[in-house]
Amino acid sequence: MKVGFYTSKREYDEKMEEFNEAILNSIRNGVQTLGDDVKAFEKEIQEYTAAQHAIGVASGTDALVMASDILNYKDGNEIITSPFTFLASTSCLAKHKGKPVFVDIDEETFNIDTTKIEEAITDKTVGILPIHLFCQMANMDDIMDIAKKHNLSVLEDAAEAFGMQWKGKGDTYRHAGTIGDMGIYSFFPTKTLGAYGDGGLITTNNDELADLTKMLRVHGAKEKYHYEYIGYNSRLDNIQAAVLRIKLKYINDSIEKRNKIHDLYVERLKEIPEITLPKVKGDQKPVYYVFNITCDKRDELNQYLKDNGIGTSIYYPIPLHLQNCFSYLGYKKGDFPVAERVSERILALPIYPELKEEEVEYVCEKIREFYRK
Ligand SMILES: *Cc1c(COP(=O)(O)O)cnc(C)c1O
Repeated sequence: MKVGFYTSKREYDEKMEEFNEAILNSIRNGVQTLGDDVKAFEKEIQEYTAAQHAIGVASGTDALVMASDILNYKDGNEIITSPFTFLASTSCLAKHKGKPVFVDIDEETFNIDTTKIEEAITDKTVGILPIHLFCQMANMDDIMDIAKKHNLSVLEDAAEAFGMQWKGKGDTYRHAGTIGDMGIYSFFPTKTLGAYGDGGLITTNNDELADLTKMLRVHGAKEKYHYEYIGYNSRLDNIQAAVLRIKLKYINDSIEKRNKIHDLYVERLKEIPEITLPKVKGDQKPVYYVFNITCDKRDELNQYLKDNGIGTSIYYPIPLHLQNCFSYLGYKKGDFPVAERVSERILALPIYPELKEEEVEYVCEKIREFYRK
């Protein structure tokens, strides 16, 4: 049997007519930038997440760069974040000469260890950039408390976190990306809400920040050809928005299917002593965008699964503090032992809504087989 890590083909086959119709309609209506589908999609995201503002941009990476620009994460200002993430969570800071200050992660959630944030704050610190990774949100109670106490802004990298919700000690569940000053989503094809190409979005509950974001995505213009700031050309594409509107209609069902696959994995793998399974902390609703295990002999297991036709992935093999592009920050091996240890043990197994039960069974059987050898 072959079990791919991810494919968009099964979803397309299931909903082909709807996708075709939406894409063709978008073309039939004539070329539109920030057109009807983008406007409708932004409104639907606002309704789904309860964010006051939802502003579509060209990618999650652009969303991070623009939000960092707006929140003044630049020119030597320090921003506290985690080294265990995708490059874009930190490169957005470096783009404007902001200084990323890393703190280690929690060994069980892989998210920023909020008990270590305060000791990293200096008089140059202006913000905290938590990343809600894989299946769960960082501890937003702690982060918002610390931010308030030290007068810092918060930018949530919710690129992987669409649909995740945090309650913590609060009264209600709130969506990832809607708790800090600004939040961002990525619609990269593999993400929980994925397009057929690139796309991203910025959320905020602050009118002023929303106005700035809308200006910055069209070259800093308040009205056409009147430029207030040096901005960007970063718009969510109308055809991608048309695709995303279809996917958003079914998102709760997709999330539920992911969660069921997670449950089956846990059921089948929980007895294997060489494996540790994900643990969700805090009162929150996880979404299994990625299903990770941490395990002994990770590289050998990975090879064994590949040899048996199973697609896997390693997020992330090298923490950002050890990447060449960030060597100027002066970090060295051993600075963030938890992130380093996790990066040597973590392995992502296939999970997407259309993955079949027998495929999950096959993956688990091969994992058991490997450790029995
Ligand atoms: C995917 C991702 C991004 C970047 O999103 P793109 O849309 O691919 O630019 C940023 N941060 C994290 C944590 C991601 O997983």
